[in-house]
Amino acid sequence: MANVAEYFGSKVFNLPTMEARLPKATYKSLLKTIQEGTPLDLNVAEVVANAMKDWAVENGCTHYTHWFQPMTGTTAEKHDSFIEPDENGTVIMEFSGKNLVMGEPDASSFPSGGLRATFEARGYTAWDPTSYAFIKDSSLCIPTSFISYTGQVLDKKTPLLRSMAAVDKEAKRVLALFGKTTKKVVSYVGPEQEYFLVDKELYSMRKDLMLTGRTLFGAMPAKGQELEDHYFGQIKERVSSFMKEVDEELWKLGVFTKTKHNEVAPAQHEVAPVFSTSNVAADHNQLTMEILKKVANRHGLWCLLNEKPYEGINGSGKHNNWSLGTVEGENLLKPGRNPQDNVQFLLFLAAVIKAVDDYAELLRLSVATAGNDHRLGANEAPPAIVSMYLGDQLENVVNQLVEGKRTKEEAMGILDTGVASLPTLNRDATDRNRTSPFAFTGNRFEFRMPGSSQSISGINIIINTIVAESLSQFADELDGTQDIAHDAMNLAIKVFKKHKRIIFNGNGYSDEWIKEAERRGLPNLKTTPDAIPYFAEPKSVKLFEKHGVFTKEETVTRTEILLEDYYKALNIEVLTMLQMANQEILPACLEYAKFLVDSISSKEAIGIKVPKEKALATRISKLTESLIANIAALQKVSDSVPAGDALKLARYYRDKAIPAMAKLRATADELETLVSEEYWPFPTYTDLLYRV
Ligand code: ADP
Ligand code: MG
Repeated sequence: MANVAEYFGSKVFNLPTMEARLPKATYKSLLKTIQEGTPLDLNVAEVVANAMKDWAVENGCTHYTHWFQPMTGTTAEKHDSFIEPDENGTVIMEFSGKNLVMGEPDASSFPSGGLRATFEARGYTAWDPTSYAFIKDSSLCIPTSFISYTGQVLDKKTPLLRSMAAVDKEAKRVLALFGKTTKKVVSYVGPEQEYFLVDKELYSMRKDLMLTGRTLFGAMPAKGQELEDHYFGQIKERVSSFMKEVDEELWKLGVFTKTKHNEVAPAQHEVAPVFSTSNVAADHNQLTMEILKKVANRHGLWCLLNEKPYEGINGSGKHNNWSLGTVEGENLLKPGRNPQDNVQFLLFLAAVIKAVDDYAELLRLSVATAGNDHRLGANEAPPAIVSMYLGDQLENVVNQLVEGKRTKEEAMGILDTGVASLPTLNRDATDRNRTSPFAFTGNRFEFRMPGSSQSISGINIIINTIVAESLSQFADELDGTQDIAHDAMNLAIKVFKKHKRIIFNGNGYSDEWIKEAERRGLPNLKTTPDAIPYFAEPKSVKLFEKHGVFTKEETVTRTEILLEDYYKALNIEVLTMLQMANQEILPACLEYAKFLVDSISSKEAIGIKVPKEKALATRISKLTESLIANIAALQKVSDSVPAGDALKLARYYRDKAIPAMAKLRATADELETLVSEEYWPFPTYTDLLYRV
């Protein structure tokens, strides 16, 4: 492979390519749209479309597609070729400005939460010029928004762009009070993506992995993650060659893939990019998930993005590193050398603290999925309670401001290794807290609750909007101030006092914290059906409408979609479990029991006494009886689904299906430990986790 700098972005219609291929005036006007969000002229689009097409065709493209992000959480594409017949019966390659700017796919088969009857099928896609077009599989992909005929948004990207505009607007108002002007305030995101790899052959022998993305059965292997030898461990050759190809593919697509390493659990890994503008980060994260899967397949592997593929070992998250900054390069969450005196920073910090405390339920629901429910609250992921970590230095600052007394500032530490030949190291102002859901990490916040398979759009829609709301209230309150330094400081202190309860620097995984959080009155929404309904609560609707992010109707329909996703996922799991139990596990147990019994009878026929073997056969037979009973119980749950709305169904699956599934699994897993490996119908955890 050539030098990375040479092929980086080679499949992207990025700024240098635009500049090289567009007339100067067109380039300038497009750049203004990209950087400042000014509306786009159709004449400009015409020229851009033609240049894009020429570039794409030169790079082997035959088709173009509007690439969008429907409510499924993944991406959608419908490919049209560039060919246009001419009068000679041959073709020319054409792409008009209209085709670039707008598409009109049939929207009827995408989730809409009842927003549209299926006969109102028309949907529109609209070009998002702030995210570059790129080439994938000989198609020019144009990132777009997806909107219904009546103007309702049907995707995750449009509200993300709206939320970015909201936070830009409100942050600018606050900055103006400090006498600052900026072209744009941008929310930046760097998502760390965790995933598991499994051998493809083994994967294809497990219906649960194929249909649900996670194992529904499986006893713990003799070795789990207890030795902590996988985290940052040497990367196996097959995995390493997979990772190299992932990097190459993503770099060509202009994704700033930066970090890769082994994660805590066996066969678990992580990839993280350099952060970028939230909407670009969202596009790039979708591409990352897609490339991980595709490249894994080429290496005889399968990439599992599910939040909890295996019980008993860590699940996978997607840490969402978020910050606010100006396009000119000022990070608004940077404390500087003296955070005590950095009033502007303190005000922005206060805005985030207030946002998280005021809208903890929204943050919680932004990460609520069937898969993530298995992870949040388990001992490797933050609990379902939203709290914030500031680190010692900032917590000190906040405490001192709240108490009104100023003590000596903690000096930035130096680490002495005691070895003269090693360099001395500057210590970071904040340590890390791996157990906090929302941790300040020096110049950004790391939201650690999101699940690995989620689109990051939904999460950042919430973060941007709730922070926009805090900033909006601040701007209103400080309007007309004569002494911004004084008044902003007082306001920050007032906010710290009021919202201090959301700050928790201790161990978020401990049981004491659950009690403490309850005492503080923090919500603990344990499951998805507990959390999702908050989306359409009057308080949320007011927020979203004020900032132009969602209409009331959109919140109602999205609530419906999210709840449907939940119970549908559980329903698929139930059906898969029943199939595996009936058709694979039960026959295996019966056969093995028969083998034992036959062997016992023939021994007894010639007078050999085998009481222990008999006891084993009895134990297996008894467990098999329980297995049959537990299958029947789960079948009954599946057959008795009540009529009702999405919330009722979601609660039904949570309360009835999950316990019945757990019971069936426990029996099957016990049988797995007793039945001969030769008879067991599918690969075990040891195979899946260690034969990569
Ligand atoms: P960790 O050590 O927390 O696992 P990683 O290096 O894996 O960190 O990932 C940190 C992520 O945070 C990267 O994607 C990085 O680009 C991103 N990041 C760094 N600075 C910012 C910032 N100012 N705003 C948003 N994200 C940032
Ligand atoms: Mg990391």
